[in-house]
This record gives sequence, structure tokens and C-alpha cells, in this order.
Amino acid sequence: MSAGITAVRGMNDILPGESERWEALEDVLRAWLRGYGYRNIRTPILEQTALFRRAIGETTDIVEKEMYSFVDDLNGERLTMRPEATASTVRAAIEHSLLYPGPQRLYYFGQMFRHERPQKGRYRQFHQVGAEAMGFAGPDIDAEQMLMCQRLWDDLGLSGISLHINSLGSLPERVTHREALVAYLRDNEAYLDEDSRRRMHANPLRVLDSKNPDLQGLIAGAPRLLDYLGDDSLKHFDGVQTILKDAGIAYVINPRLVRGLDYYNLTVFEWVTDKLGAQGTVCGGGRYDGLMEQLGGKPAPACGWAMGIERLLALMAKEGQATDAAGPDVYLVNQGELASRSAFRVAEDLRAAGFEVVQHCGGGSFKSQMKKADASGAWLAVILGDDEVAAGEATLKPLREEKAQQRVKIAAIADAVGSHLFQEDEA
Ligand code: ATP
Ligand code: MG
Repeated sequence: MSAGITAVRGMNDILPGESERWEALEDVLRAWLRGYGYRNIRTPILEQTALFRRAIGETTDIVEKEMYSFVDDLNGERLTMRPEATASTVRAAIEHSLLYPGPQRLYYFGQMFRHERPQKGRYRQFHQVGAEAMGFAGPDIDAEQMLMCQRLWDDLGLSGISLHINSLGSLPERVTHREALVAYLRDNEAYLDEDSRRRMHANPLRVLDSKNPDLQGLIAGAPRLLDYLGDDSLKHFDGVQTILKDAGIAYVINPRLVRGLDYYNLTVFEWVTDKLGAQGTVCGGGRYDGLMEQLGGKPAPACGWAMGIERLLALMAKEGQATDAAGPDVYLVNQGELASRSAFRVAEDLRAAGFEVVQHCGGGSFKSQMKKADASGAWLAVILGDDEVAAGEATLKPLREEKAQQRVKIAAIADAVGSHLFQEDEA
């Protein structure tokens, strides 16, 4: 397609054959989230650029180099395509006073945009499902969010996703740790890369989040924030761990886990698999008690996570969880003028009874229609010819098993189709 227009690099079309897996997963996710009392929120994909700069932080990878930002030609507004949805959810919560009646559990699902180098598991448009619990201060909600993820892995039959947790403490604790960290980084300045050298002063914690393999040794030796936590932070962290232990959920404390966004405090966590190569983080989250106030709202503690759908689907495919793209229940073959006219009524009757029906459109010979019926993956062909319709009847032809075809009354077609498909299910 050299002369044609293609999709933007790093942004994927999700085509039939693949989209069935997405829909099936979305159904599971919605039911699972509702099972924990989360309610759906849908915010715009475009937000004012200032929202993300303020929420995520000026010296993060996302804000410094990954955002799709532009000036709206029509009115000069500075806009950004959301790189994540926590900022938007908090903005909406403030704008609509969502916490006025009390704490809220919210979830979202949708596209996010980051100008990263596209590779397997890393795209420029990708999808996240995420949850935000707002107005909750205790460690119970943090732990509940980890427990719920474990339930999802179990429900999806996924194994080997391990939970990493850490605590980022409070602001004063991070300030004290920061002094030690800057001193350490300064001593090792010669080994830092350009980004880290720049961030060493502006936002030294970000150096610990560097993906540069050459820096990992240096990062491993850096002062640990965990060693700077006061009593309250430790108590919160212990609280989370007690609930995890009670629930029998294995976890590792990873003192290097700082997350890539500035709004986090206290608990942070990631679910990581080694089955997806370098892009092994399936889910990341944590507490962001200061964000509400930072965005101009009434202070309220909160905790949330976001999961990458592409990575989750890739893992499901790896673990053999790929669902087949199922065909419709019925392909409706119709030939002759009378038959093609009554086909509409028959199709609607079947759909009203709950069946998935593809009605043949576009005419053609009986043979070519039967070929299409076969290719559609349908269980059953319902055949209407003028003779049949004149007699008030239709022919049912099983397509997936060696079974004789059968003439049935059109008036009782739904029952006849039903008894076929239900037999099929039992087999
Ligand atoms: P990574 O360390 O892989 O860059 P992140 O810390 O930037 O991830 P978050 O902002 O925490 O990611 O987003 C939560 C989840 O969204 C990630 O754990 C991952 O599953 C998914 N995700 C993030 N960026 C992308 C991307 N560019 N393409 C596909 N999935 C992504
Ligand atoms: Mg990233």
C-alpha cells in the first residue's frame, strides 16, 4: 500500500477474528469489576495538556517525551490525547463532586496514547482497564485491589504473574530520602546517562525508574526509600501485607519499584510476568493521596491501578486461553422472491428468540449461498425456497455434524432451531 494511506505507526486495527477475543475479555472484566463494586466512568480522550503536566509530573517520561499534544487550530487551546486515565478520572470526580456523597469505586476502559518506540507489547495507541477507589485512606482498599487482580488471573486461568510491592512513604519522608539519593547520584554522576543527570536535581526518584540497562547496577545500590519510612507509613505498609498474607497471596517487596508517575505515595504495586519478554508488566498501581488536592479538589485519599489489555491478551494467548472466533447460530439461505421477502420475518423471529442470525443478502445460486453458510461458521443453515415458503415451511440443515436435514413449520421455527442448538451444546 505504498501510495495508500495506512494506520499511524504503533496504532493497531483490531479486526474480526481478533476482536472477538477483545469482546469476550471486556465482558469478563466488566463482570469482575462490578463484583467488587466498581462503577463505570467514561471521560474524554482529549484533555487540556495542563491536566497531565500537573498530575503526572513535568519530569516524567510520559510528560517529557511521550505525550501527543497539540494546539487546537480553531481556538488555540493546548490539548493532549490521554496517556493514562487517572488524571482524567480525578478531574471528573472534582468537576462533578463525585465524592460528595462518600467514597467512590470507579473503573474505566479505553484507549491511551503514548509516543513510545513501538515493539511487541508496547504501542502508541494501547488500551487499559483501570480502577480508582477514591475517598479511602486505609490499607484495606490497597490490599483489596491486589486481591481482585489475583482473582482475575485465577478466573482467566493465568499463572506466574507475580506481585511486587513497595512503599513510597509520605512527602517529608521522600524529601529526606531525596537528599541521600542526590548525594549518591552525585558521587556516581560519571556513570549516569543524560536523562538521569538532568533528573538528578529536578526529580531524582525518577532516576530509579530508568529503563536503561547500564544503570541497573547503580540503581540497585541507591539508598532505599523503604529505609526512610516513619511509623505511620510502615504501619500502612504492614497493614497491606497482613491482608495479603491472610488471603494467601504471594508477593515480593521490591524497594526499587517507584512507578513512572509523580502522583504516587505510600503503597505502589506491579504485577509482572516473565512470559512477555521485556514488556512484562501487566498491571501497575498505587496510592495517590495528594492528587485530588493538587488538581484543585478537596483533599481525598485514593488508590488505583491500570492494566494493559494488549499485554493481558498476549498472555492469554500464550497460556492457551485463546478463544475461537465462534460463528453465528444460523445462516439464513433464501432463494426466490417469496423466500427472500419472508426471510426478513424469519430472521427477526429467530433473533427475537435470542439466536444469532446472519441473513444471506445479495442473492446468488443455492450452491453459492450454501458455501457462504459453511464459511460463516454457523451451526445451522435455515433454508427458505419458494416451495417451502408456499407450504409455510423451512428446511434446517446442520452444518457441523453428520445429521439429516429436516423440514419444519415456519411458525415453530424458533423451537426447532432451539432443539437443534441445545442438542448441539450437550454433545
Ligand atoms: P512500562 O514500564 O512497561 O512502560 P508503565 O509503567 O509506563 O509501563 P503504566 O503507566 O503503569 O505503565 O500503565 C499501566 C499498564 O499499561 C502497564 O503495566 C502496561 O501493561 C500498560 N502499558 C503502558 N504503556 C503501554 C504501551 N505503550 N503499550 C501497551 N501497553 C502499555
Ligand atoms: Mg512506560
